Amino acid sequence: MEISIAHLYPKLLNLYGDMGNIITLKKRCEWRGISVKFEEIGVGDKINEHDLYFIGGGQDKQQQEVASELYSNKNFLTEERDRGTVFLGICGGYQLFGHYYQPFVGDKLLGISLMDAYTVAGKKRFIGNVTVETDFLTPQTLVGFENHSGLTYLQGETKPLGKIVVGNGNNGQDAFEGGRYKNVFGTYLHGSLLPKNPHFADYLIELALEKRYGEKIKLSKLDDEIELKTHNSLIGKAY
Ligand code: GLN
Repeated sequence: MEISIAHLYPKLLNLYGDMGNIITLKKRCEWRGISVKFEEIGVGDKINEHDLYFIGGGQDKQQQEVASELYSNKNFLTEERDRGTVFLGICGGYQLFGHYYQPFVGDKLLGISLMDAYTVAGKKRFIGNVTVETDFLTPQTLVGFENHSGLTYLQGETKPLGKIVVGNGNNGQDAFEGGRYKNVFGTYLHGSLLPKNPHFADYLIELALEKRYGEKIKLSKLDDEIELKTHNSLIGKAY
């Protein structure tokens, strides 16, 4: 089997080692004999069809550079979403999956509306460890690290990834973290996210394989003793 993965604008949005998510996706495929076709997309590059797109986080300035690039590919990426392609966006990348991100200073950045959500900059920067309880993963928890001033509000059919157990999440008010619509996932969890949440990595890989091959494919089990020991050590940890 094969899976094609694109990393969107890693030279601009790769804060707090978000690249670790790509390494995890690649390794967890290769360890199972699934070959990975990988492409880095830079500013000005044509975006080809893939099974999974990843975009990381960054400061407002880098987000401005990426926002116009992403927006120029909005129609294509919306068609990809509707084909069941998997998207994972972290923090700044997540914010651009919505309708817009209004930074504290400067113009509103138009997002690509892959999910019905919007973000406005808040006065306080949320920094610290986060524990989230989901209703679609086993184990149910996700752990990571947040560092954002953006406050994200979900609307319409957009669901959160889960409920905040520790930390602030989307906006520090509704106790939601992240967002999901179809196979588009966004989250504030840096860390990077997937090495410490191997069950979520496998969940995304299975969705991407289902989109590619048109049937549900159950991945073989890996020895995740170290990953889950790390995961469990962070559950409930605040600072
Ligand atoms: N610049 C955005 C914010 O502060 C995103 C930050 C990030 O990607 N960590 O909310």
